[in-house]
Formats: sequence, structure tokens, C-alpha cells
Amino acid sequence: PGGLSQSQRLYRRGWRVFPDGTTRVTVERQPEPIYIVRGEGAHLIDADGRRFLDLNNNFTTLIHGHGFAPMVEAVATALSNGTCFANPTESEIALAELIAGRIPSVERIRFVNSGTEAVMFAIKAARAFTGRPAIARFEGAYHGAYDWAEAGQANGPAQWGVAQMPRAAPTYRGMPQCVADNVVLCRFNDLAETERQLSAAAGRLACVLIDPMPSRAGLLHPDERFLGMLAGLADKHGILIVADEVLNLRQGYHGACARYGMTPDVIAMGKIIGGGFAIGAVGGRADVMRVFSANGGKPALPQGGTFSANPISMIAGRVAMEAMTRDQFDRLETMGDAVRQGLHGAIAHHRARFSVSGVASLFRIHPRPRIPTDYRQAYLGEADKALMERLNRHFLQAGIILPKGAAACLSTAMTPEDIAHIIETFAAFLAASACTHGE
Ligand code: PMP
Repeated sequence: PGGLSQSQRLYRRGWRVFPDGTTRVTVERQPEPIYIVRGEGAHLIDADGRRFLDLNNNFTTLIHGHGFAPMVEAVATALSNGTCFANPTESEIALAELIAGRIPSVERIRFVNSGTEAVMFAIKAARAFTGRPAIARFEGAYHGAYDWAEAGQANGPAQWGVAQMPRAAPTYRGMPQCVADNVVLCRFNDLAETERQLSAAAGRLACVLIDPMPSRAGLLHPDERFLGMLAGLADKHGILIVADEVLNLRQGYHGACARYGMTPDVIAMGKIIGGGFAIGAVGGRADVMRVFSANGGKPALPQGGTFSANPISMIAGRVAMEAMTRDQFDRLETMGDAVRQGLHGAIAHHRARFSVSGVASLFRIHPRPRIPTDYRQAYLGEADKALMERLNRHFLQAGIILPKGAAACLSTAMTPEDIAHIIETFAAFLAASACTHGE
């Protein structure tokens, strides 16, 4: 039929082969997704020839934006030498050395293919090391699709009930109750209750799984005393701290935990370390990581993977990470500060009921007068959701893709003009809606 855009056409076609029109639940639709034909640095070009500033960067993966030239060149050479082998290559050692050289908690590392897999093996490693089955995690935080990491992720108000304490309910129909029974769900930044819950379950807890700045829960800032309590309690009871830095490794040259004075025992990584190709990694203390070592016999925790440590991901990751020098991290942080300050300035000017969370290259706009400190505060009801949809559409009309949830992020491909454009776009939205949302 005529009159349809290319994206509408493609979406219709997609419905004939995919149960939901696309193959990721996370694909944003307005109401159809924007189909992309090309990425160019900080920008995307869609199937209808429109150009957008990309603040999604494939869910924060592309720290250099699209088609980063040194990576493209290195991968082009690598491709002609073969894409994957059953044998190891030097490329895996080079990337491992780079990561171990930067991230303080990484003494030993294993490569996998996604963040989901990294979190899964981090949890399994904690279990194999401690001999305990259960994990603790925080309400609303996203850790990928491993059942135990997922249980409790999607709890909305319907499951909050009257109780103050969250409970890890099965995430999907048919998920065994025994999964949720082995997940202690706590509230981020709730010091006293978390301490009580963890102490009560201490004997069966292998680890506390924590993203230091959980993005989907609200890009929440961790309270220093809360992190201190976790460290002390974990130490006292022999519970491991498993940090999920799949997203937040991009917070700095030494990662996110270093920024908050955390010393995790195991850390799950992904996204930026693959330079735009599929990757995950689990690293940690040498004695814990020994669970992966066969040492002639059978390892306590077997881990393989057909595409694990494939040379394309390894080479792309090394080139992308090498280009992320301390100076580049500083530059991104300065741009991030400028964005957040600019957005705050617009909010103050219009006396709007919004706030902005995030650090380094990450930010999230909340329809809340103050930055939420946990998932329940950040959770959006229908009216707020509609407001944020309007904000998202306003950004699209201005040529900017602003992710609806989780975190927006900057890339090294962005310029001060891009930053100014983001701030002006938000200010224009506030100006237009001042009558309904101002004071
Ligand atoms: N943990 C965190 C904190 C994440 O943000 C994500 C992905 N958004 C994952 C785990 C899962 O990673 P992947 O999508 O690569 O499986």
C-alpha cells in the first residue's frame, strides 16, 4: 500500500516472521520501530533517509559511536584471516591484558558472548566458590536473562502489595518457584532493611549481585554508606560481591566500582569491551576465578562457548578500548557534565518538575522533582509514562533518539554542538509544556 514509510513497510514484513515484529523486546516503537540502514559516527540514518543523533548507541555499547575508523580497519584485516577458530589466538590475551591492567578487581578473566552470559557465569562462579545456592539482588535492576539474575527484575506496583519488603516473584509464567526462592530481593540504598535481609539469609547466599548504578531501575546513584554496609556484611559472612558492570564499565578508565570505592570479588563486563561486536567477560579475584581452571582434572565450573573469545570481538574490543585513553574518558566526562548541567539549568529556568541522574557519559531524565534513590521512586505510572513518551517524540522531531528508559549516553564521536542541541531540545520541550507541568 502507498503512503507507508519504509519503516512501516519493514515492520509489517517483520510481523510475518517474528512473534512481536522484531527480535528484541527492548526495541522502541512509536508505534513502529525506526529501521536503520547506516550509522555514521554520532548519527543514525534510517530507512526513510532521516538522520538522528544517537543517544542510545546500542544500549550504551558504542562508546565511539558508529563505524569507528580504527576498529573498522582492524576488523577488515582480521576478517580475511578467518572469523573464529577452536584454537585460541593472541588477540584474546591482548584484550585480557588490557582489561586486567585497568580494572582493579580483575586478576583473571574469561570471555563469553553477552552480558547475560557474563552475569550467569559470575553467579555460577560465586556458587562454585562458596558452595551456596542463593543470590541477593536489587529491585528493578536489569542483569540480563539468566533466570536467577532476572527473578524480581520486573516487579511493578502490582507485586509491591502492602509490604515494604520486595519479594522475588517469578518473572514469567512457568518460571520455577524454586528460582525465586533462591533470590533475596532487596531495595537499593535501603541500608537497614538490606542489612537485615542479608543477615537473615547469610548462610545460603553465594553473592550479592549489584550494579553500582542500576540503569533500568532509574540510573540510581549509590549511597556510599549503603555500599560500605554491603562490603562489611559480605566480608563478615563470606558472601561474594558480584558487580555487574556490563553497562557501567564506561564510567571511567578503571570502571565503575573504582569510582565508588567498591572492591568486588567478581565482575561481569560486556558492551564497550567488544568495540561493537558481541562480547561478555567475567573477571575477578584469582582464587575465585580458579573455579574455571581444570588443572588437569575437571574444573569446578566448566565454561566454554562456540563463539567465546572469537578474534573479531577480541580485536574490535582491543582497538576500541585502547582508543579510550584517560584523556578520552575525561573528555566524555566533561561533555556529560555539560549535558547534565545544561538540562538542570533548563529545569531550574522553567521551574519544571524534572531531575537528571547519571555520571560520566550517562544520563537519565526523570519526571520527578528530585533524583529517585530507588526503583519505586523512579517507577513511572501511566501519566508519567505518557509524559516521557511526549518527551521522546519531541526529541525525535528534533532529530535525536533519546532512549525511553535505562540510560542515554554520549560517545566520543559527539561534539559540543551535539551537546548544545540536546540541551536546547529539552529546554524547548519544557517551554512548550510549561503551562501544564511548571509551577
Ligand atoms: N547487565 C546489565 C547491567 C545490562 O545493562 C545488560 C544489557 N543491557 C546486561 C546485563 C545483559 O547484557 P546482554 O544484553 O549483552 O546480554
